[in-house]
Amino acid sequence: ELANRMAERVGEVVKSLMKMGMMVTANQTIDADTAELIIEEFGHKIVRVSDSDVEDVIATIVDDEVDLVSRPPVITVMGHVDHGKTSLLDAIRKSKVVAGEAGGITQHIGAYQVTAEDGSLMSFLDTPGHAAFTSMRSRGAQVTDIVILVVAADDAVMPQTIEAIHHAKAAGVPMIVAINKIDRPDADPDKVRVALLQHEVIVEKMSGDVQDVEVSAINGTGLDDLLEAISLQAEILDLKANPKRSATGAVIEAQLDVGRGPVATVLVQNGTLRQGDIFVVGEQWGRVRALMDDKGDRIKEAGPSVPVEVLGLNGTPEAGDVLNVVETEAQAREIADYRAHAAKEQRAAVGAATTLEQLMAKAKDDKSVSELPILVKTDVQGSAEAIVQAMEKIGNDEVRVRVLHSGVGAITESDIGLAEASGAPVIGFNVRANASARNSANQKGVEIRYYSVIYDLVDDVKAAASGLLSAEI
Ligand code: GDP
Repeated sequence: ELANRMAERVGEVVKSLMKMGMMVTANQTIDADTAELIIEEFGHKIVRVSDSDVEDVIATIVDDEVDLVSRPPVITVMGHVDHGKTSLLDAIRKSKVVAGEAGGITQHIGAYQVTAEDGSLMSFLDTPGHAAFTSMRSRGAQVTDIVILVVAADDAVMPQTIEAIHHAKAAGVPMIVAINKIDRPDADPDKVRVALLQHEVIVEKMSGDVQDVEVSAINGTGLDDLLEAISLQAEILDLKANPKRSATGAVIEAQLDVGRGPVATVLVQNGTLRQGDIFVVGEQWGRVRALMDDKGDRIKEAGPSVPVEVLGLNGTPEAGDVLNVVETEAQAREIADYRAHAAKEQRAAVGAATTLEQLMAKAKDDKSVSELPILVKTDVQGSAEAIVQAMEKIGNDEVRVRVLHSGVGAITESDIGLAEASGAPVIGFNVRANASARNSANQKGVEIRYYSVIYDLVDDVKAAASGLLSAEI
């Protein structure tokens, strides 16, 4: 690879390395310092490209306090299937589209912006559910500022409601509870509020600090209250960005369009993205040929929290990929190449897994790790509770076990997604992983451990936790 990049013969490079006392073969990996010596010896110019270079490009831009302005919040809707996530997103969008504007038809680009009664802007991610949320997070993009937890008033708290709560908590994103289907005759919003207590979501009406709003996605009741709650939460979060800098963003959706080539919807997170900007996004790069807003209109630039469709990519990125505007095309191409190469190597490396043992090793390198995150799935609710209690007893001031999520039923793909995003192993107690979860775990290198005796589980986790502990001393 090095020889290739220098346009020298492989044999010559190997020979030089041997002269330096390194007995290597053509396919062996050498460290960067050695590579530098070789490059110098061959009289070439050294251009180090790594992720840290990308960071450097970004890090050189220090946002001046005076340039920071408030930015709209970005909202994701989560909750159990059929509780009305899609209906709610549609209702909000429709109620805020000015009649006649672009024929009242909005385009689906994976996200949209609305203006609340008080004039404040907010951006909604149009892919409800936590699969999208975690897959983005596991790729390093934390785009959501606020989670709307939708719970149907005629159904109460369900397994995916609980999952959503755990996803939001694991990401440290504040929630607003939307108690939906309030129009139903059998709606019982207080039952929802009480049920949420069990999952440590204490809503305002129960004297907690999580806002709760009764809504109906069908007849529009409470939508303005919900937007008001969002405004309030956004104010508390005091979200800021610098529109003057070059843009960074995250890919919400991307696909290969027959007519237009690769198209990505990007949520600008900081800075302003402009037509003509050169950028790198995940393993792809490009130059912004055109920008389209959520109404399908061509725009020249997009500022913080604005979702835009970007044309001009050389390939299709993945949801969650981070976009950075860079100075030159050469830089963009080099970084994209480097990442593609690094990703290939990583895929090839066997067992990049998150095991209990690896968590311990990581703790030894990184002294700040003092929490052992795990996911627990069990056959019955009783054992889930018993395990969570037993886990909480393990550890002390320095180390503790954190059960990110516990639930009843088989281990699913969604569990694996959360585990990957949080670097946690998944514990199956008297339950197995379904086929798609097993595949996904293999691909993502997430460890699944099966137990049928609580003591065995406690012993293993204790051992892992004490590994963390001794590493700290
Ligand atoms: P999702 O799976 O969470 O996205 O749920 P959907 O938005 O697809 O809604 C599931 C079902 O509930 C659909 O039949 C909706 O028409 C219905 N629904 C959603 N919101 C409401 C509501 O506020 N009131 C009533 N009565 N039905 C609703």
